[in-house]
Amino acid sequence: MRGEPLASSPALTPTLSRERERGQESAPLLQVDGVSLEYRTPERVVRATHRVSFDVHAADRFVLLGPSGCGKSTLLKAVGGFIAPVEGEIRLDGARVTQPGPDRIVVFQEFDQLPPWKTVKQNVMFPLLASRTLGKKDAAERALHYLDKVGLAKFADVHPHQLSGGMKQRVAIARALAMQPRVLLMDEPFAALDALTRRKMQQELLELWDEVRFTLLFVTHSIEEALVVGNRVALLSPHPGRMRAEVNSHGFSLASLGGAEFQGTAQRIHDMLFEEEHAHAEATA
Ligand code: ADP
Ligand code: MG
Repeated sequence: MRGEPLASSPALTPTLSRERERGQESAPLLQVDGVSLEYRTPERVVRATHRVSFDVHAADRFVLLGPSGCGKSTLLKAVGGFIAPVEGEIRLDGARVTQPGPDRIVVFQEFDQLPPWKTVKQNVMFPLLASRTLGKKDAAERALHYLDKVGLAKFADVHPHQLSGGMKQRVAIARALAMQPRVLLMDEPFAALDALTRRKMQQELLELWDEVRFTLLFVTHSIEEALVVGNRVALLSPHPGRMRAEVNSHGFSLASLGGAEFQGTAQRIHDMLFEEEHAHAEATA
């Protein structure tokens, strides 16, 4: 949150100073520092994000929340090392990110991220083998361990087409966690699921986090999902994405849904995103 003006909402600013104080206690695991990202086509340059900064600490569930097209996926790709910033820097454990690596694994929204010719277990084993992280026997053992964690040990030998959308996402999560990345990156992983399955997956992700304590960078455009999944939520303005504010959502869970405090915070975030869109529409009219 450095370098950019912070959100004007007084209700949100106390959180910022608390987070800052906490941030000084330990070095951040992941630092996104003044990062601007662009797409260049022969005709034009599209700026996807503008000088975005945030720090993610070990075991954070850090959520990037913003409207469609504000550059969330692009930011995640940059953290993944697939896109280089045109400005600013991304650091993991203090070292600049310049390429993809097994320390950052992405779970996508699409159900077809699992090669269909491999069984569930083979899918989870594959990155472990391909990256030479483990030999065959240990990879199989670790795959089963994480499949068990997502409740799919019994489905180890079936093929992805025999699974529901939610189950496929569980396999993708098991596959990512099996690599024991420094940061788990998730790009709207539950957006294509029906509402009930989505709730269930959010619940399971939180239970999994309770058990494994991985560090999560999670992208969504759902305010509700952001508050439920995250302990910290960064608000991004519409295209090009800029940091607007950070909200402490540590106290919220699925049990908070519908409660007054939850609704109030969701409403404030909604107003901020809406205000921004409104201003944006006027500025570009
Ligand atoms: P989000 O994930 O928040 O919906 P994206 O990161 O996908 O947003 O996109 C941010 C902006 O960059 C959008 O305006 C989008 O149209 C543009 N964009 C995304 N991918 C490309 C690309 N491959 N080429 C050109 N522009 C792109
Ligand atoms: Mg996206």
